[in-house]
Amino acid sequence: MVTSTMVASPMTAAPLDPVTHADVAVVGAGPGGAAAAAHLAARGRDVVVLDKDRFPRDKVCGDGLTPRVIRELLDLGLHDEAHGRAEGFAVQRGLRIHGGSVAMELPWPELDDWPNWGGTATRRVFDLTLARAAQRAGARLAEQHAVTGPVWRDPSQSRVAGVAWRDAEGRTGVVRAPVVIAADGAGGPMGKHLGITRRTERPMAVAARSYYRSSRADEPWISSFLDLTDADGQLLSGYGWVFPLDDGTINVGLGLLSTSAEFGAVSYRGLLESWSAGMAGQWETTPANRVGAVKTGPIPMGFNKTPLHQRGVLLVGDAGGMVNPMNGEGISYAMEAARLAAEVVDHTLSTRRTSDLDAYDRALRERIGGYYTLGRIFTELVGDPRVMRICTTYGMPYRPLMRLVFKMMAHLTDDRPADAKDVILNSLQRLAPAA
Ligand SMILES: Cc1cc2nc3c(=O)[nH]c(=O)nc-3n(C[C@H](O)[C@H](O)[C@H](O)COP(=O)(O)OP(=O)(O)OC[C@H]3O[C@@H](n4cnc5c(N)ncnc54)[C@H](O)[C@@H]3O)c2cc1C
Repeated sequence: MVTSTMVASPMTAAPLDPVTHADVAVVGAGPGGAAAAAHLAARGRDVVVLDKDRFPRDKVCGDGLTPRVIRELLDLGLHDEAHGRAEGFAVQRGLRIHGGSVAMELPWPELDDWPNWGGTATRRVFDLTLARAAQRAGARLAEQHAVTGPVWRDPSQSRVAGVAWRDAEGRTGVVRAPVVIAADGAGGPMGKHLGITRRTERPMAVAARSYYRSSRADEPWISSFLDLTDADGQLLSGYGWVFPLDDGTINVGLGLLSTSAEFGAVSYRGLLESWSAGMAGQWETTPANRVGAVKTGPIPMGFNKTPLHQRGVLLVGDAGGMVNPMNGEGISYAMEAARLAAEVVDHTLSTRRTSDLDAYDRALRERIGGYYTLGRIFTELVGDPRVMRICTTYGMPYRPLMRLVFKMMAHLTDDRPADAKDVILNSLQRLAPAA
């Protein structure tokens, strides 16, 4: 466990030598890369983590932290952040789901394996927190160092030997390491260099988000919306969210799944502006209250880049397309994969058997693969507005059913369940073939 209190204080990092040696090179210091670096450094490994940006930096996101993220924060020793006591972090009780004319409040489930609360933090704050936690654990963070590609041990490129970088001043160099963790996000370069392409049969989404000042920023619920309307009451495509933040703003966003007919054929910014105008009366989402620009980003889902290990390079988080297809949550999966990658890499550095790294791919698929197969079916179904309308009309009024759906979509059950709902959900995941 990484022990430290957080810390938005600046930390200086020594510049990298043109040739730097490490046990592990981590590409990207988002939640996946920073968590991997923190866990490996806490295990005594010499880690260099490179990011093209300087922290704090923005990242297009809903800023929602589910109980799965809270558990990862606790595991990293970030208790104040997990409990919403640190500046920039807020906690909420659960989800308020809006569908048709109904709104239902669903507290995060009470489980043995998971915290019963969630939170929010802007990615400026959240990612800085994790990057600093990695440094405090002993990782060397090189900011404004863009990785340009892997370095190979031999001309046949059978095995990685590190990564090459270019910094903001145009200096170049390499970090030589026997293992590389690629946590460079949805558009990062590592997958491309490895020849990994997106599996187009797997779902993805594109989402847009914006911030608004709102007197409702202290709400104890995050809100999600199954149907969106504009100011004239016209139905709009997509699903939306309003997540309250600690700084007096709300994060308002919407996304469209690749399984929906309008995917790629609409203006996401336009949709968000129309929806915001439609709910300005309730949420104060007027142009005057908007902070910053509307921004969009891809959400790669259901392991849409595989294999997750090859030639000494492990893909973590969005780099491996690890977002949950059922709810668009990616932070926790990046952090969980990072924790697992750190365990496997640490073991492999001791055994010096590269093939031991395959355990990472196997273990992730074993843990999450069945659930993601269900997620793919789910996205096919909800991509059809007729199915969604039936679910909203007939499902929304029934609280027990909505609680089950909420648990399923949030991927929150106990391993050894005492509750019949968990038994059903765990069995479904086990029966589904791993993605
Ligand atoms: C609109 C939107 C809303 C979302 N809402 C939520 C939400 O509410 N909750 C949730 O859990 N998830 C949400 N997600 C998904 C979530 O943002 C991602 O799953 C998560 O950020 C993945 O973390 P990561 O560490 O894998 O990648 P990233 O967070 O993308 O981090 C990758 C890092 O790699 C760095 N990098 C890239 N290229 C290079 C390079 N060449 N060299 C060095 N560094 C490089 C980047 O600068 C970045 O810091 C949302 C996504 C979008 C687009």
